[in-house]
Amino acid sequence: MIYFDNAATTPIDPAVLIKLKEIESEFYANPSSIHSAGQKSRFIIEKSRDIIAESIGCFSKEIIFSSGGTESNNLAIIGTALANRDKGNHIITTGVEHISVINTIKYLSSIGFNVSYIDVDKNGKIDLDTFQKLMSKETILVSVMMVNNEIGNIFPIQEIGEILKNTEVIFHTDAIQSYGKIDFTVNDLNIDLLSMSAHKIYGPKGVGALFIRSGTKINNLFFGGSQERTLRAGTENLTGIAGFGKAIEQTVVTKNERERIKILRDTFEEKLLSLIPEIIVHCRHSPRIFNLSNIYFPDISIDSLILNLDLEGIACSSGSACSSGSINPSHVLSAMHLPKEHTENSIRFSFGRFNTNDEVDRAVKIISEIHNRLKKE
Ligand SMILES: *Cc1c(COP(=O)(O)O)cnc(C)c1O
Repeated sequence: MIYFDNAATTPIDPAVLIKLKEIESEFYANPSSIHSAGQKSRFIIEKSRDIIAESIGCFSKEIIFSSGGTESNNLAIIGTALANRDKGNHIITTGVEHISVINTIKYLSSIGFNVSYIDVDKNGKIDLDTFQKLMSKETILVSVMMVNNEIGNIFPIQEIGEILKNTEVIFHTDAIQSYGKIDFTVNDLNIDLLSMSAHKIYGPKGVGALFIRSGTKINNLFFGGSQERTLRAGTENLTGIAGFGKAIEQTVVTKNERERIKILRDTFEEKLLSLIPEIIVHCRHSPRIFNLSNIYFPDISIDSLILNLDLEGIACSSGSACSSGSINPSHVLSAMHLPKEHTENSIRFSFGRFNTNDEVDRAVKIISEIHNRLKKE
C-alpha cells in the first residue's frame, strides 16, 4: 500500500510502539493510587505532561490530557463558553474548522449562543478587518484553527492573537494538524486554549491534550473523580499518554524530515501537474503546511478515481476524512466559496514520515493512468 492519508491518521512510530509495549506490560497500577506502584504510573503521566508543556512553552499544570482532538475541542469550546456566559454570549469562528469544532459550536448555537463566521476566501485568506468588525462587547470566545486539515492552509494565528491580546476574549486554536510539525509557543501567539492529538503525529489513537492558560475560566464536561485538576474525570489513559509524550520527543529527533516531506509533496504536485495539466492544486501559492495537497480533478467521476486508486493500493482521502465512505461535498471548500464541482471533485493527498520518493513516482504514474482511462469513459 502507498499510504498518502497521513492527515487522517499516521502509522505508529517504531520508538513509540516500543514505549507502548513497555508501559502496557509493566505498568498497570492506577495513577491515583497512593501505593508506590501507583506513584510510578503517576510519574509516567507527569513526565509526558512536562514534555508536551515544554514543546509549546507553557507550564505543565496548564496541560490537560483528553481522549483526543475531538474531546479537547469540545472541552475548550463548551467548557469556556458555559463558564463565561455571564460576560457575553457571542462566539466567533470560521466555516472551515474541523467537524469537531463546527458541530460543537452548532450545539452552543442551539442552546442560545450567537455565532459569527469569519470569511475565508478561495486562497484560504482570512480577512482580519472583517474579523475585527465582528467583535463586540458580547464576544467571549474566538476559535480559529492553526492549519486546515483538508487544504493544509496556515491561518494567521499570531495576527488574531495580537488583536485579542489586550481583551478579555478567550482565544482557542485547533492545532491538531500543526502540532509537532510547526514550531510555536502559546505565548508568542497569545493563545489561551490549544487542542492537540497524538495520532496525527505517529502516536497512538484516542489520546490528546488541551493547553489551558492559567486563569482561564473553564467548566468540566465530565463528572466524576478529580483527575486532571477535575477538568477531565476518569482514570487516565496511561499507555496512550506515555506514547503521546514519546511521539513528541520523536518530532524533535526527526525535525529535519519536514524539508524531505515538503519535497515529496512538491514533487508529487509538479509531476502530476505536468501529466494532467487541467488539475488545480488548492491554495498552492498560499501559506501551506508542508505535508498536504488538495487537488481538484475536473470532468471525471471522483468516486471512480478514489475506488480505482484504492484497488491499486493508494490510500488518499476525499474531502474530510470523517465523511469518506460516503463522499460528501467538502464543507471547507464550500465555505471558501469554491464552485460546486470543486467541493465534490477534490482529493486530499497527505504525506508523512514513512513515505518515499519511489512511492511518489509510482503514485503519479498510477493516478495519471487511471485518470486517462476515466476521462475516456
Ligand atoms: C483529526 C483532527 C481532529 C480530531 O482529532 P481526533 O484525535 O481524531 O479526535 C480535530 N481537528 C483537526 C484539525 C484534525 O485534523
